[in-house]
Amino acid sequence: MDFPIIHKNLKKFSLTPNLTDYHRCYQSFSWQQARANIKGYGKGINIAFEAVDRHVDEGNGEQNALIWLSKKGERQTYTYTDLKMLSNRFANLLDQLGTKPGDRVFSLAGRTPQLYAAILGTLKIGGVFCPLFSAFGPEPIQSRMTIGDANILVSSLKLYKKKVAAWRDQLNTLQHVLLYDCKGQCPDDCIDLDSQLSLANDQFTICETSAETPALLHFTSGTTGKPKGAVHVHEAVVHHKHSGFYALDLHPGDTYWCTADPGWVTGTSYGIISPLCNRVTLIVDEAEFDPERWYQILQREKVNIWYTAPTAIRMLMKVGEELIQQYDLSNLRFLASVGEPLNPEAVTWSQRVFGKPFHDNWWQTETGGIMLANFAAEPVKPGSMGQPLPGIQAGIVRVDEQGQLTEVNQQGEIGELALKPGWPSMFREYLHEAERYKNCFNSDWYLSGDLAYEDHDGYFWFVGRSKDLIKSAGHLIGPFEVESVLVEHQAVAEAGVIGIPDDVAGEIVIAYVALKPGYEANEELITALMAHARKKLGSAVAPRAIHIKDNLPKTRSGKIMRRLLKARELGLPEGDISTLESDEHPPHQNAGDEV
Ligand code: ATP
Ligand code: MG
Repeated sequence: MDFPIIHKNLKKFSLTPNLTDYHRCYQSFSWQQARANIKGYGKGINIAFEAVDRHVDEGNGEQNALIWLSKKGERQTYTYTDLKMLSNRFANLLDQLGTKPGDRVFSLAGRTPQLYAAILGTLKIGGVFCPLFSAFGPEPIQSRMTIGDANILVSSLKLYKKKVAAWRDQLNTLQHVLLYDCKGQCPDDCIDLDSQLSLANDQFTICETSAETPALLHFTSGTTGKPKGAVHVHEAVVHHKHSGFYALDLHPGDTYWCTADPGWVTGTSYGIISPLCNRVTLIVDEAEFDPERWYQILQREKVNIWYTAPTAIRMLMKVGEELIQQYDLSNLRFLASVGEPLNPEAVTWSQRVFGKPFHDNWWQTETGGIMLANFAAEPVKPGSMGQPLPGIQAGIVRVDEQGQLTEVNQQGEIGELALKPGWPSMFREYLHEAERYKNCFNSDWYLSGDLAYEDHDGYFWFVGRSKDLIKSAGHLIGPFEVESVLVEHQAVAEAGVIGIPDDVAGEIVIAYVALKPGYEANEELITALMAHARKKLGSAVAPRAIHIKDNLPKTRSGKIMRRLLKARELGLPEGDISTLESDEHPPHQNAGDEV
């Protein structure tokens, strides 16, 4: 097979901050040990206890847990003690309202302190929290709250009036709506969250949730079809905690910024739980993506660790390097990326402009936490997703038409990326979709739906989603490889590649590209891009046609929707587009809101 081009031309970046520390921990890792590091484990495990209260009990309550930067330029700091008391207040409020363990609390909120208090407070009382992305329209909100049997909604007055009030009565399960930022205008059928929080008691005894108590409900991004509701349990915290150390280099006292919104699993697992468990100081920025603001935050807050998404990185690349040179980003120690394949070009760029590579890592809403990563202590391979985390067994498998699974033991051979179930943050079900859940498993493997291969060093390389793989004239073509080559061209900001049916070749490769500022869409440029792609990929793999677009269709979590490019190209129905961000908008509105 004529794969893999990327890793043959590889240049490794090595950044080895504390090799012995990592290797010692890696080699001695066991789930038993990781579980033992969770304080409540054995007599009742609770994510919020581990994330917040534990640090107060251990004498670290005065450390800043969260620094909140408002859209308007306000800056508020919350110590671990503050966060403990604020979440206690929220838990007491839920208690007064008669909330029972297992009740579902949804949020439709911007990144405000109330949201963080609500998540932690709900976990303390044994409720299940489901954060929704605030930019959703009324329909996706209603369908998710209906699927999830929502009992409580936390929102702002503005978002509620605009997106929920009109259909609220149709949702029978919904008992209470708690609204912040009401400024005295709270509707009669809602509760003024801010005033009730200030009245609530700040002492609360955390419920004795067990390892298997449901804690979080997260909907997938909807990139490949209708979003699924993945249920996670309190035991997930075991993986959240230790993966933060291995994959993100989190150490107590670090200042850490995860740009993802809690409406996506990254914004909860690694925007709240993992960093707090590792006692870092979280930066929470309420505002949307803006390159200048982002560099200002990195500089002013002296961010050490920055976790973001390929869409955001590509947009920063698009803006250019001059802007970066105006800032002192010397406190940055570790950079990581997730959510989509990270083109090697982006890693090379980051090494040049920040002096450090982005460390790509891979996981899914279903896995609840990072599964593969370019570790801090190992060389970064640009274009690779990295190696399995300690305790995670990953493999490449093939499933034939009869449903027979075989393991691929040949390095470099493409197959479906699969994982051996059993890690703590693994989802326990797709809510109300038992069949879909069952279909994720075969033999003793969990099937990810992504295609990949493993190299001789044990690094895994993303090829594409199984559904996006292109079969052209006997070649198997992964969209990511073609996209990465196109993005190498100086004019290209991002690329989406699909296969469309062809009588002769079976399928042919079509590419869509968005340009960097200053480049004009014309025939000459298309010819140059074609030549570049042919030179790098060969004519069998290079796109047969390249279309230039202002923007590519993306999910609100920043993923290119190739299925939509294909449906549009073929004039087919668009399918579920509840998570589509309008193509007409400049894509930067929600950049980094991932996985
Ligand atoms: P849906 O399952 O509803 O179609 P989705 O798979 O995009 O949506 P998520 O769980 O948010 O929903 O995203 C997980 C997927 O994102 C992975 O299966 C993979 O395809 C992609 N992904 C995440 N990280 C990476 C990465 N580092 N490299 C390549 N792909 C990645
Ligand atoms: Mg998925």
